[in-house]
Amino acid sequence: MESKQKILLVDDNRQNIQMLMELFRQDYRIVAATSAERALKIVLSDQPPDIILLDILMPEMDGYQLCKALKDKDSSKNIPVIFVTAVSEVMDEARGFGLGAVDYITKPFHPPVIKARVGLHLELKRKQELLERYAFIDALTDIPNRRRFDEVLLKEWDRAQRSHQQLSLIMIDIDYFKNYNDLYGHGKGDAALRHVAQEVKMVLRRAGDFIARYGGEEFVAVLPYTDTHEVLPIAEQIKAAVENLHIEHRDSQVADHITVSLGVVSAQPDQQDACAETMLQTADNALYRAKSKGRNRIEIVALNSGTRG
Ligand code: GH3
Ligand code: MG
Ligand code: MG
Repeated sequence: MESKQKILLVDDNRQNIQMLMELFRQDYRIVAATSAERALKIVLSDQPPDIILLDILMPEMDGYQLCKALKDKDSSKNIPVIFVTAVSEVMDEARGFGLGAVDYITKPFHPPVIKARVGLHLELKRKQELLERYAFIDALTDIPNRRRFDEVLLKEWDRAQRSHQQLSLIMIDIDYFKNYNDLYGHGKGDAALRHVAQEVKMVLRRAGDFIARYGGEEFVAVLPYTDTHEVLPIAEQIKAAVENLHIEHRDSQVADHITVSLGVVSAQPDQQDACAETMLQTADNALYRAKSKGRNRIEIVALNSGTRG
């Protein structure tokens, strides 16, 4: 079952909060803040709300300022903001919309109207999330797709650059998979891809580790804060985990079950000349070497300053 969506009420007047809470508590989860500063903390926490009902006139930081702060941050810019104002304050609706608000509600409240409007925006939010999910998840394996990988790689690259940390990539490709399809059929091939994807995902359990389907029978993992020495045992675990699935493959030249070849690269993104694309290319080259050296093996490269893959 879908969990209840969460509304954040921001108003320096506790009575207003109380009133709105009564209205919504049956259908939604509610959190409340009596200052913009407190609201910001809630929004930036690891349990952000799905929508924000925001009073305009508040001491210190006002609703407009808070709205602007929220829309300026990647993590909060997609949370819809509805301004709540007294009729006497409806002076600058355009300003609110200009800042990215989706709607206005005026006091005194008309409960059915507020409910309908908030419900509508929450419905849109849910649909938006669904669309995003489908845009970034691979339908066959249910893990992130290449589009998502491209985003994550750039994000992690930037982060590693800023924090002077190492970053690692692992490219994984199933050996003799065309033969597998030819022998067992496409349906069995699809099932094998799903198994391998889920198995690799299980190995990568540290926070921040990321795995995507890169294409056909190829997967790619991003491992933040991971150097050459740390990434090798992980690649070995992935290789072993896939072998241990013991998916029969009578037409493989290297084993009687499905195996993978892996190309691994570690880089220090804050060094000159390095870029995410070079890193990806280097992993791909390493994978190619693993294939040409016989498959069912790992090739690893440390990408240092001035070195290009
Ligand atoms: P290598 O060991 O060199 O990697 O050989 P390979 O046969 O695995 O590589 P190749 O790139 O020649 O073939 C990849 C095959 O993967 C082609 C296609 O039959 C299969 N494949 C790609 N995507 C899918 C898919 O979505 N489902 C299934 N069932 N097979 C796929
Ligand atoms: Mg292959
Ligand atoms: Mg391939």
